[in-house]
Amino acid sequence: MPDKHFTSEETTQRITEVTSVISHQLKTPLAGIKSSLEIMLSGDLGEMTVKQREYLTLALDGSNKMIGLVKNLLDASRIDEGRMQLMPESSDVGALAKAVVADLTTFAQAKNTTLSITVEDNLPKTFIDALKIHEVINNIVYNAIRYSKGRGSVTMSVRRDGHDILFSSTDTGVGIGDGDKGKIFSKFYRSPSISAIAPDGSGLGLYISKAIIEKSGGKIWFESVEGKGSTFSFSLPIQ
Ligand code: ADP
Repeated sequence: MPDKHFTSEETTQRITEVTSVISHQLKTPLAGIKSSLEIMLSGDLGEMTVKQREYLTLALDGSNKMIGLVKNLLDASRIDEGRMQLMPESSDVGALAKAVVADLTTFAQAKNTTLSITVEDNLPKTFIDALKIHEVINNIVYNAIRYSKGRGSVTMSVRRDGHDILFSSTDTGVGIGDGDKGKIFSKFYRSPSISAIAPDGSGLGLYISKAIIEKSGGKIWFESVEGKGSTFSFSLPIQ
């Protein structure tokens, strides 16, 4: 029930502040848990049984997921408060996209999905925050693989389009229904049917991606047919 002492704007503001405080408080202990687990798994403290290693690996996987969530919550708070900063440097977007493909190949294989990329020759470098654009590409392609169905395919392309570099990822996945199309860039939004396919997810990836691309001077959009697949694209000005 809404608190009658606060307007809905104030309530939203308070939720943003509380989320930011909690996320900050979780960051340091989570980093401590992760490094302790990594030290134990390294074997430096003595040998472990297969079962011990298995449980510690599960714990490490869980702590990595929590660290990812906390990072996304902190990024979303920075965006909401207008504090997101970019650190642009001259970068090769094609190489960034290829690096994402290399990182996600094992995941794609586990999902029976073929993953391919074409990068136009001689693309000019452009001035972008490479880490953040890597994060956007990773988010789009990770979603494309995660929301695939059956033996799917994900095809990426990076090419020049006038004064822009255009990145596209086309998948043969579940697609997005007309009722969801206006909402998927909203903070925390996940389409109701997606939780059955992938229960993990915060609905923050596209919200953060849109903010990064727009702050970089670009645009991000998608086309999708429910049950057939989606194409997510973004453009970045060559500068
Ligand atoms: P998350 O993937 O963690 O739920 P995102 O912000 O990355 O959060 O995506 C928001 C929602 O957009 C997803 O939950 C899903 O409903 C939809 N979506 C994103 N990418 C795709 C895709 N390639 N195919 C189908 N649905 C997608």
